[in-house]
Amino acid sequence: MRYNVSQLLKGHVGETRHYQLQDAIPDLDPAIKPLTDLVGVVDLIHTNEGILVRANLRTTIELTCSRCLTEFAYPVHFQVDEEFHPTIDIVTGARLPQPEDADQATQIDIHHLLDLTEIVRQGLTLTLPMAPLCRNNCRGLCPNCGKNWNEGPCDCKTESLDPRLAALKNLLDEPDRDN
Ligand SMILES: [Zn+2]
Ligand SMILES: [Zn+2]
Repeated sequence: MRYNVSQLLKGHVGETRHYQLQDAIPDLDPAIKPLTDLVGVVDLIHTNEGILVRANLRTTIELTCSRCLTEFAYPVHFQVDEEFHPTIDIVTGARLPQPEDADQATQIDIHHLLDLTEIVRQGLTLTLPMAPLCRNNCRGLCPNCGKNWNEGPCDCKTESLDPRLAALKNLLDEPDRDN
């Protein structure tokens, strides 16, 4: 996910490099568990300000269903459209002044390496759902016995609908009642 852009920066504005990306996703974030490589196309375009990155990327992330707590594979597809800025003048080798609010994630380092890692992390984080579901109609877990209702009904499901039986069940469930 790192590209040396020194040759591109020395060329004409508008010059473009086209790359096929297939790369393991490094440890980005404890919340992001990749199941497959990151694949896609990356265009690096020399602009007046630096390098514009246009990428179309996909991978598969392991998520935990917010209803039934089962882990499942979630395919992700996202775009990158970010301009990176050099920290070193490619001709003179002098350090370039950086604005105070310069975003570290989109800085080309002193070795002219453009690193997509942080932008990929941000892209993935924005794409992943806040409350993932393993399927649209996930039935979730029984609040009584914890059985996964996607695998079939549990025995307590109908009981709990009857308030008298639910009250009786609560009595029976009280631990160490007669001891
Ligand atoms: Zn689920
Ligand atoms: Zn149950």
